[in-house]
Amino acid sequence: MGNDSLWTVPPAEALRAGPGFRLEELDRAGTPGWTGDKDAAEDATTARGADLSDLQERLFAHGRTGGDRSVLLVLQGLDTAGKGGIVRHVIGMVDPQGVSLASFGVPTPIETSHHHLWRIRRALPQPGKIGVFDRSHYEQVLVVKVDELEPPEVNVRRYAELNRFDEGIMASGTTLIKVALMVSYEEQGARLRERLERPDKYWKYEPGDIDTRKKWGDFQAAYQEMFTSTSTGTAPWHVVPADHKWYARLAVTELLHGALAGLDLGWPKADFRPAVEKRRLAATMAEPDRVSTERSDDSSTPEQARQGDVAASEKKKKNPKKKSDKKDTKK
Ligand code: AMP
Ligand code: MG
Repeated sequence: MGNDSLWTVPPAEALRAGPGFRLEELDRAGTPGWTGDKDAAEDATTARGADLSDLQERLFAHGRTGGDRSVLLVLQGLDTAGKGGIVRHVIGMVDPQGVSLASFGVPTPIETSHHHLWRIRRALPQPGKIGVFDRSHYEQVLVVKVDELEPPEVNVRRYAELNRFDEGIMASGTTLIKVALMVSYEEQGARLRERLERPDKYWKYEPGDIDTRKKWGDFQAAYQEMFTSTSTGTAPWHVVPADHKWYARLAVTELLHGALAGLDLGWPKADFRPAVEKRRLAATMAEPDRVSTERSDDSSTPEQARQGDVAASEKKKKNPKKKSDKKDTKK
């Protein structure tokens, strides 16, 4: 079911934090670019899931055949903003084998002993993968700035460092999608209350969440500065109003879909001759004990032939007396 017409402006455009972006003007219950309702959004998300899955498989196949492309979805947002829901409902629509997910919490002692980007580099997606960062290197200009976990004169230099880091990963073949999920103060309060009222949600709650909530204004200012300083032409931030989970999920689905489609990946070409392999397969369709293990010269690729030669000479080394097992059709 195509709901493309319900987008008046594509989300990559509608959500981009351009020059002069003012976070305080963002309607966090808004649905920028989308004119449909909740049901239509959920239908559109599900419909995109099939395309997303196909595109993800192309990326995976590309990685398996020597390609260097990958995608990295960076998710930022305060507690309850819905980062986990994006992972479950959006990333959950693609094959988990093609996803590498990393969550970044308070650094461990080992992580603290290294540069702050050390743990990030180790978690970058391999070629062919969709990487997802649940929080990211950008915490360095959010919680680290707000809680003054490093001197402000050091912290202020992080913006340029983060921009250089992003440029570097993009230069190595990674398509970067930076998403900030922005929930309102009221909605965060309601979601925290729900976590405290439902035993099945206790696990999501931490008493420290209230301490962070008390610094709401400081965090908003830090987010604003992050957008101003690190939403670049090549690696823009997408600021997603997150009070409606259905909108945020649809918007991120679209952003991810757009990034994967933009790679324009076809299916990798065979590095064997399909017609020859079909004949070889057909020859094995007889009773297993009547199948020849012999391989015709015609059927082997240079690589297979080379591997066959190595295997044969290894065998000879082990059984020097045995003349040949080539004619051994009966086992
Ligand atoms: P959660 O995402 O709810 O599991 O919480 C992870 C916590 O780790 C949040 O309170 C973050 O602010 C915190 N955190 C993430 N990165 C850093 C960092 N670099 N330094 C300090 N705290 C961090
Ligand atoms: Mg939390």
